[in-house]
Amino acid sequence: MTERLYYHDPYQREFRASIVSSSDGGKRVYLDRTTFYPTSGGQPFDMGTLSGVAVVDVVDEEDRIAHVLESPIVEQGPVEGQVDWPRRFDHMQQHTGQHLLSAVWADLYKIPTLSFHMGADVSTIELGAAALSDRQIAHVEERCAEVVAAARPVQINFEESSSELELRKASPREGTLRIISIQGIDRSACGGTHVRSTAEIGPVFLRKLDKVRGNVRVEFVCGGRALKQARADFRLLNEIGRALSSPHEQAPAMIASLTERLKASEKTAQRLAIGLAILEGTELYNSTAPDAGGFRHTTQTGPIDEAMRARAQAFVAGPKALFLGVCQEPPSVLLAVSADSAMDAGKLVKAAVTSVGGRGGGNQALAQGSVPSAAALEHVIPDLRDAKKSG
Ligand SMILES: [Zn+2]
Repeated sequence: MTERLYYHDPYQREFRASIVSSSDGGKRVYLDRTTFYPTSGGQPFDMGTLSGVAVVDVVDEEDRIAHVLESPIVEQGPVEGQVDWPRRFDHMQQHTGQHLLSAVWADLYKIPTLSFHMGADVSTIELGAAALSDRQIAHVEERCAEVVAAARPVQINFEESSSELELRKASPREGTLRIISIQGIDRSACGGTHVRSTAEIGPVFLRKLDKVRGNVRVEFVCGGRALKQARADFRLLNEIGRALSSPHEQAPAMIASLTERLKASEKTAQRLAIGLAILEGTELYNSTAPDAGGFRHTTQTGPIDEAMRARAQAFVAGPKALFLGVCQEPPSVLLAVSADSAMDAGKLVKAAVTSVGGRGGGNQALAQGSVPSAAALEHVIPDLRDAKKSG
């Protein structure tokens, strides 16, 4: 049985203890007493050292606590433990902040906390509500700030389990319970480490909201993390401002206006591309030598898009003309023929592509089709390119 020193004094950073047993060649050590907190109740384990050796994991095995070490301790005798205090204090701030936050949600809006998880940068609680409004969020943050400013004592008491305990959330445990109370605000059964006054929680900020299982998961940061996060946010805002060459307060308006301008430019670019394609089609017609029958053929490769269609239509606007567009990926074709060609592009494309398992069609002047493979494409190209000669 490991005596849990942190149960009584979470501010104890150093301790002396004896090794009771060990395994894994001395890398998994059990002590008679420890102030190292094992991962449990949503709170991660403490780090630190045992006789100068780094503790890389702390595991709750119910009666015992296992200290997993970076390298083995083989010699018997007393060990000196030292907890990584900045990490521990950060956990105490987040964990006590969670008690406060959950109590305020329950008190102001009767919304229960279903679970808690403390991450390396942010923590989350899942609240039993389908949605939360901005007003509720602001109200809860303000109420937390009031309680923090009031420096209410946070106490640890051991009480026998009964229905009279008036806990925020009934505990399923029997026997002696460790009760953490925030004076006048909350009473919860909890084995975690907490600060001694709400003043030590520091700022409590709610951040991202996510829908999970029909509930809302709320991300929050307290104390030092809130400060760090606010500083990171401000740095990011300044970077955005610099990128936009304007004060960051104007960033949303600047981004909205840039988006509008981008859309307008894209439209203009598309219009110009079509205009250019029409000129190219006409130019191509003029520079293509007619065959013996006075007929002009061209085969162009590239994506079959608006520009390809415009180029094709401009080409066949002249008399006696056939334009074939070929795209390798996805394998597809476009056929345009002049009105005086005595050909039907729709029928030609449909016949060519269906013969190789493809699909397509169109009208007399313009048609498109797709085929299943590059080999099928090679098969239909001559059919369409030489349609005039064969027909
Ligand atoms: Zn707790």
